[in-house]
Order: sequence, then C-alpha cells, then structure tokens
Amino acid sequence: MIGRIIRIISNQYLVADEDGRRVECVAMGKVRLQDKPHTGDWVEYTDFGDQTGIERILPRKNSLIRPPVANVDQALIVMSAKDPDFSCTLVDRILFLIVNASIQPVLCITKMDLVQAQDPVYAWIEDYRRSGYEVVLSCREELDENLAGVLKDKVTVLTGQSGVGKSSLLNKLNPAFQLQTQEISKALGRGKHTTRHVELHEVAGGWVADTPGFSSLDFSRMTPTELAQSVPDFAPYLGKCRFRDCIHQNEPGCAIKQAVEAQQVSRIRYADYLDCLTLVQGRKEKY
Ligand code: GDP
Ligand code: ZN
Repeated sequence: MIGRIIRIISNQYLVADEDGRRVECVAMGKVRLQDKPHTGDWVEYTDFGDQTGIERILPRKNSLIRPPVANVDQALIVMSAKDPDFSCTLVDRILFLIVNASIQPVLCITKMDLVQAQDPVYAWIEDYRRSGYEVVLSCREELDENLAGVLKDKVTVLTGQSGVGKSSLLNKLNPAFQLQTQEISKALGRGKHTTRHVELHEVAGGWVADTPGFSSLDFSRMTPTELAQSVPDFAPYLGKCRFRDCIHQNEPGCAIKQAVEAQQVSRIRYADYLDCLTLVQGRKEKY
C-alpha cells in the first residue's frame, strides 16, 4: 500500500493513505539503513499482522532541511501590508531561495485592512501579478476563500517573519491548527530546534507543515548562475546574453538588463537580484 508520512515520533510513523485514513507504521530495517524517512515522504507499507512496516521510500521530488520535509508542493510567502511594513526586498530574497529549492512560490499579503486604497502596496502587488506570480490577499475579517483554493490538495510550507499573521491565517481555516512560532523555536534553543520533527496538518483539503521554513536567508551556498536561475522573471532571457558567463551586473550585451530597460522584467526584481548577488558573494543574513 502507498501513503504519505505526516508525523514522525522516533520509529513511529503516522501515514495517511490515499483515502486520508491514518495508519501507524514502523520503518523496516532496510529503510532505516538506506535513508531516514522524512515527513512528507510517499512510502510503500505492508500489514504484517503484528505491525505495519514501511518497506520503501518512493523517490522525492524535493526536500527541505529546515524544517525536514519532503515533496513540498509550494511555499506560501506571508507578508503583511503593514505592521510590520511590506518589503519587496524581503519577499524577493525568500522568493529566490524557494525557487532555488525547486518549490513553487505563492505570495499571501495579510492585513490589507490596515492600508488605504492609494497605498504603494497595491502597486507592488500589481508588479508581482504582472510578473506572473500568484498573489492572494487577506484581511482580518474575511474568510480567505482564495487561500483555501491555493492550499487544497497541496503540501505547503509557510514562510515569513513573526507577526505577519501566519497563525491567524491558518486559524481561520482550521481553528485546531497550531503553528510553531519562531519565538518558541528560539526559546527551545538550537539543539532542540534541530531535532524537533515537523508534522503535516490537514488545512482546507491540503497539508500544511506546522513549522515555518526559509527563516535563515542564507545565500552563501548559491553561485551567481544558480541565483539568476532562481529568479523566475529572468527565465525567458537566460542564455541570450553576449557572454555565456554573464552575471547580469555590468556586462555589455546583457539580455536581462535590456529586458529591464524595455520594462519586460520588473525593476524591483532586478534590483533585488543585484542585492542578493552581494550575498551570494559571501555574506550570510538572517531576519
Ligand atoms: P505570526 O507570528 O506570523 O503567526 O502572526 P500572528 O498570526 O500571531 O499575528 C500577529 C498579529 O497580527 C496579531 O496581533 C494578529 O491579531 C494580527 N493580525 C493577523 N492578521 C491580521 C489581519 O489580517 N489584519 C489585522 N489588522 N491584523 C491581523
Ligand atoms: Zn546578462
């Protein structure tokens, strides 16, 4: 039988089968020797009478290290319109890391009730939408039907600073949902944080990880080429620059810079790419 691991406690694996039924499993020796099963893994399991054993982990489409979760369909970048203030730079840094991890990004902008109709946040939202990103908006009072649609049938990891409204968002959709806040993780200390297992919870017909991801904005392992490949706006123009090793900074004949000038690529995304390029070249940053 085939199912997805939604919780791990030592050698106890809670698997949701294809009909959503929960099955308690153990990992058979060969699986543990081969590769540690992750939350989110699709597994093959067999009922041996006295126990149900996981015999095989199916190939992963991707996997995150922090939190340790496999087969993530999308990451929801949660950013408030205000309080804390909206920052394209922060959104874009997270965005590039998500795309680099082969995960689909979706933007969710909360606290729209705190901004007036002429607020610059509307121009930024338009800029993201024009560039092809999916953006959902959220207010305190409204039930987020668009968000429910986005979460349905997918495995989602949330990301975003504390205070942007991640817990409130999920609570509206599933009042039982408890998001492990970054404050709690910090209070537990580094050691405990890294050994804590992530759990997937059912929210709006999909699965949401109870631990936010991408909180360490670490670009130090990326090369400039990988960074440029992590900017979805650049995709149609990559490989068209005069120099094969162009990093789209000061080189002549750069197709990306030309596309920015022609307003085919967002100026904001390009500026944030250049900003991240300095991070790629060595420094580490956290928020
Ligand atoms: P988290 O740290 O990202 O999980 O953020 P919380 O969900 O704890 O929310 C932080 C604060 O923002 C709380 O005081 C919420 O009541 C408030 N908040 C969350 N969503 C909204 C919203 O849509 N509008 C307004 N005005 N406040 C919100
Ligand atoms: Zn170039």
